[in-house]
Amino acid sequence: RRRKRLSAEEYAEGIIKGDRIILSRAITLIESKLDDDILLAEEVLEKILPHTGNSLRVGITGVPGVGKSTFIESFGKHITSQEKKLAVLTIDPSSQISGGSILGDKTRMEELSNDPLAYVRPSAAGSALGGVNYKTRETMLLCEAAGFDVILIETVGVGQSETTVKGMVDFFLLLMLAGAGDELQGIKRGIMEMADAIAITKVDGDNVRRGQLARAEYQNALHLFPPSETGWSPKVMTCSSVDKEGLDDILDNIMKFEKDMKTKGYFQSNRQQQNLHWMHETIESYLKRSFYNNSAVSEKIDSLENGVIQNKVPALTGARKLIDIYKNTKN
Ligand code: GDP
Repeated sequence: RRRKRLSAEEYAEGIIKGDRIILSRAITLIESKLDDDILLAEEVLEKILPHTGNSLRVGITGVPGVGKSTFIESFGKHITSQEKKLAVLTIDPSSQISGGSILGDKTRMEELSNDPLAYVRPSAAGSALGGVNYKTRETMLLCEAAGFDVILIETVGVGQSETTVKGMVDFFLLLMLAGAGDELQGIKRGIMEMADAIAITKVDGDNVRRGQLARAEYQNALHLFPPSETGWSPKVMTCSSVDKEGLDDILDNIMKFEKDMKTKGYFQSNRQQQNLHWMHETIESYLKRSFYNNSAVSEKIDSLENGVIQNKVPALTGARKLIDIYKNTKN
């Protein structure tokens, strides 16, 4: 049975009141690709925008198996134990959307999902790079308007998803394993450079000594990077999600970052830059879609592509001709 369609006002009111059911429905609306839904979603976003900006946005990344979901469960409980309201946006690369619901994500973060101060929203990775849903940013804004103090965004450290998530959070936490070479972890220098802190996971039992060695090693590696203009030096910490060790250090570090950056003005300027970048990125992707979906362009693109392949048409000419065709349909 179809549910009654809500108006933009009803969505916005429900979200701002903190109604979880309406929040979930709004996120589904945001993720929809139907034209009607896209317009309605934009209206909702416009209405809730004045209520956004008050959460601390934290990105968490690491290779599969590093312990992200276990960490988020323990760290999340640590956050809610301080009476802070927490939203977690997780991405399960193995999950798929089927009939609008997510499969294969049920067993993750069970404890947190049952915590009244926490809201866990899994989204299927779909075709998006490294699992960052292209609407993750908007989802984050909806959660902010719903009054969450902290938002954790999980991303799988396998590709470009880190850059995308780094571009939407205040603090970027990289999880790493002790004793697995950097090669093995597939961690590129660029990802370490993006991190505001690194936490070595699973530092418990037999792994404690190795964890401490790795901590010192990574801390030294970070010293080789040029200092950030903000003056923040990323710290390497150790933790165990199972023994619940080191979680308070990590939260303290994030709080210290927030305080320092707000004092220096970098917190606000970073968000301003992110918003601008976000607008331009949206324009680019809109234009790209509009161009390639244009029927006049589609009609001519094959022959021009062939011309370019056979070296009969310069690439620049091919591009210019297609752009002219596109522009003419818009006049
Ligand atoms: P993800 O793929 O990064 O989300 O990793 P998971 O959270 O699913 O964890 C991968 C494996 O590491 C699981 O078998 C966990 O039980 C184990 N694990 C996660 N955190 C810890 C920890 O703090 N200590 C120990 N000993 N094992 C852990």
